[in-house]
Amino acid sequence: MRTETLEFQAEARQLLRLMVHSIYSNKDVFLRELISNASDALDKLRLASLVDKDLQVDTSDLHIAIEVDKAARTLTVRDNGIGMSRDEVVQVIGTIAKSGTAELLRTLRESTDAAASQELIGQFGVGFYAAFMVADRVELVTRRAGETGGTRWESTGEGTYTIAPVADAPQGTAVTLHLKPADADDNLHDYTAEWTIRQIVKRYSDFIAHPIRMEVERPGAEGGEPSTEVQTLNSMKALWARSRDEVEPAEYHEFYKHVSHDWADPLEIVHMRGEGTFEYEALLFLPSHAPLDLFSPQGRRGVQLYVKRVFIMDDCEALMPAYLRFVKGVVDAHDLSLNISREILQQDRQIQVVRRRLVKKVLATVKDLKANQPEKYRTFWAEFGAAVKEGLIDDTENRDALLEILSVASTHDAAEPTDLAGYVSRMKDGQTDIYYATGENRATIENSPHMEAFRAKGYEVLLLTDAVDEVWVERVGEYDGKTLRSIAKGQVDLDTEEERKAAEAERERQRTEYADLLAWMGGALADQVKEIRLSSRLTTSPACVVGDAHDLTPTLEKMYRAMGH
Ligand code: ADP
Ligand code: MG
Repeated sequence: MRTETLEFQAEARQLLRLMVHSIYSNKDVFLRELISNASDALDKLRLASLVDKDLQVDTSDLHIAIEVDKAARTLTVRDNGIGMSRDEVVQVIGTIAKSGTAELLRTLRESTDAAASQELIGQFGVGFYAAFMVADRVELVTRRAGETGGTRWESTGEGTYTIAPVADAPQGTAVTLHLKPADADDNLHDYTAEWTIRQIVKRYSDFIAHPIRMEVERPGAEGGEPSTEVQTLNSMKALWARSRDEVEPAEYHEFYKHVSHDWADPLEIVHMRGEGTFEYEALLFLPSHAPLDLFSPQGRRGVQLYVKRVFIMDDCEALMPAYLRFVKGVVDAHDLSLNISREILQQDRQIQVVRRRLVKKVLATVKDLKANQPEKYRTFWAEFGAAVKEGLIDDTENRDALLEILSVASTHDAAEPTDLAGYVSRMKDGQTDIYYATGENRATIENSPHMEAFRAKGYEVLLLTDAVDEVWVERVGEYDGKTLRSIAKGQVDLDTEEERKAAEAERERQRTEYADLLAWMGGALADQVKEIRLSSRLTTSPACVVGDAHDLTPTLEKMYRAMGH
């Protein structure tokens, strides 16, 4: 049968080069990645067999096997899960589909600092390619459930791979690593040693819901022949079903890495349980950094749904609103049918109740961080604030909670964002509104002529630079009984009663003085502007363009124009 040699996609090649010459010091994690993939494949098979009654597969003994050949220096991770078709192998192993990869790799290349590259790899999560940190050749033999023929894939990680059909592959996937010589690198352990493998599995994969088995040697009793036996290396305890004080932080972290495919530790853990008519357990995580696809329309939602320990689906959108799409974790709902569909889930009353509780708990957790762990809160808001603000647009039920955890840049302090309560506490006597300005960045806003009067008066202005800001401020309208008012719209009244009278007299005088000039300008600019007014709000700039109270702001105008309106 024919063997083809194919090239890795350019981005995959770069990532592989990083792995082959890896600077990542913790090489043990390659095993975590392979086991994680095997476990996903077993979940997928179980699910497929539930959904597709015609699929002829045996799901009675789903497991992962680790096989060692000391003489050949190979390590194999085998599963009897869903497997891959030839095209899938080419698609998912030969290319990297994650959005933002190219950009990330560019940063990696430009970075000369080894620690920084480590961190970037950590953020990206290299998955299957991690095998090339410890192996100089990797073989993968796989057969997709329901198909008759299998596929063999092989590569040294150097730009190309070979792919060939195989007739007799068992269903599922076996990944065989031809391990690098033990002295190739200080960070390599002996991955053929039982003790090493046991330790790594215990450390990183103990909670995996399928048995991870290995054949081990047992010395014979009293000088008798040594024998072998197959042992299960992991406890398979579902972490979310255990009580919080029984779980070590490190266990939570490894579990997070398994469900999120992230290499960094989570920022915060939310472990909850619902009792009563509808029982569920939820183990949720706030990541410590935003994924590359946070704002891509194809971006994923992080929560997995289980029913009584059985994996049902990834990206369960019924359980988390879009603005919390970065929350990762597991929800185990006890009373659902195993083959429930996404569509039905969306309608399910009980799921809606669970979702409301999860959202409230997540927001309460952030509020708690804000009050008690400001460093963590700052990280959270810097990474996810722009997404969370989307919630202010349509989650009216949680609007107050969202407004409480919100923070925005402000003229009050160049380095520290403020929350709305902070703004209100600093409002001047006689100030009735909360002032804000929107724009592309802080500098542009600060230099805009609109700011002058506010600066002169000593009024604090919130500086809103995310695209979503314009929408939520309009929608929310007020906070604590105070109107959110744009400094760029309509007539903003900054003066007290006497100042107003004096200013009015002065304006009257100026109107007469400049009447001819204004009339002339009005004629000359008739096509560009609605009206020419003498301004009371500028102190140093000669003129500025002001929108009507109901006009679009310049940023929104630009956005709509870009969209073709
Ligand atoms: P991730 O697990 O984050 O998707 P990986 O690089 O670990 O990324 O794996 C890439 C893809 O290869 C997986 O999404 C899956 O489709 C496929 N894959 C890897 N290992 C297996 C396996 N043992 N069985 C079936 N598919 C697998
Ligand atoms: Mg993976």
